[in-house]
Amino acid sequence: MHDSDGVLKVQHGPVPPDLSVDGVVVQGTGGVWDVRLESGAVAQASLRGRLKQDERTAIKLAVGDRVTIQWDNRDPGAWFITTIHERRSKLARRAPGGARGERVVVANLDQVLVVFAAANPEPHPRMADRFLVIAEANGLDARIVVNKCDLVSAERSRALFAEHAAAGYPVHYTSVRTGEGLDELRAEVGGRSSALSGPSGVGKSSLMNTLFPGLNLRTAAISESVNKGRHTTVGAVLHPLPGGGFLADTPGLREVGLWGIDPADVAHCFPEFRPFLGECRFADCIHTVEPGCAIREAVTAGTIMQGRFDSYVKLREELAGQR
Ligand code: GDP
Ligand code: ZN
Repeated sequence: MHDSDGVLKVQHGPVPPDLSVDGVVVQGTGGVWDVRLESGAVAQASLRGRLKQDERTAIKLAVGDRVTIQWDNRDPGAWFITTIHERRSKLARRAPGGARGERVVVANLDQVLVVFAAANPEPHPRMADRFLVIAEANGLDARIVVNKCDLVSAERSRALFAEHAAAGYPVHYTSVRTGEGLDELRAEVGGRSSALSGPSGVGKSSLMNTLFPGLNLRTAAISESVNKGRHTTVGAVLHPLPGGGFLADTPGLREVGLWGIDPADVAHCFPEFRPFLGECRFADCIHTVEPGCAIREAVTAGTIMQGRFDSYVKLREELAGQR
């Protein structure tokens, strides 16, 4: 039933007409989707009938969706997706002005991994804030990975994302060169479904291929940079991890963007702000110039980090300007 690539090929032979199996959509564009079954085999299936209708209106199938597929025996025979199971989470690019034009990039994610390098290229903690807000707006857990720690001192690497550690985000310090931090990161990625994000050249593919030998991530596909000369995959691709879980090489969180986030919700996307929200003198405080602002008092007290607050102001303004 499987060819050498593990692709399920039930073109001929005695397959019961009602054969029905569950799987996870790992790849697909324009009608045909790769569905990975528990056995590791991959079936090519398309949407049919009612689901196809729904797809145009409400349900949009995405990589990561759990589906039931059914074999239709009619010559020449084909797999059809008959059920899309309920999602536990989604990473979506919202359309400006509402949920109608929303495009789900990956479904059923457990977490987002935001990867930077300690040096070469220089890290941008404020860019991390943007990615983290996108993760928070989608209700997803996030962890930061600072790779290439072999290039700088331990003090320097720890200082780079100290504000994020203080905000409560798990920060991993890794080096593909020395092996630092790899076991700890593998333990948090294995068995879960994660989206990988971060600038080009920080070592995302080196890191993941080292953590999970045989994964074979292609650098170009997971690069955040929009490099027009390079061939890149259009949609996200889900890579099954040996031992369970998936890694999504998303087109990038930058691609998902901040679109559609209500400026009034941005403060909630900074987890360390949450204990202070509702404590300001004015109920509609946007935490920039108002007197009696609990958020700015927390910044002064050093409970909220200045850099994170600066990012909040910048991202909120950007969103307010999009309206
Ligand atoms: P990606 O674009 O984020 O997938 O980055 P790559 O995995 O292609 O890595 C970019 C470059 O950084 C390659 O030349 C890697 O060999 C190098 N690299 C990756 N990880 C490390 C590391 O931990 N330390 C050092 N010094 N170089 C690394
Ligand atoms: Zn305030």
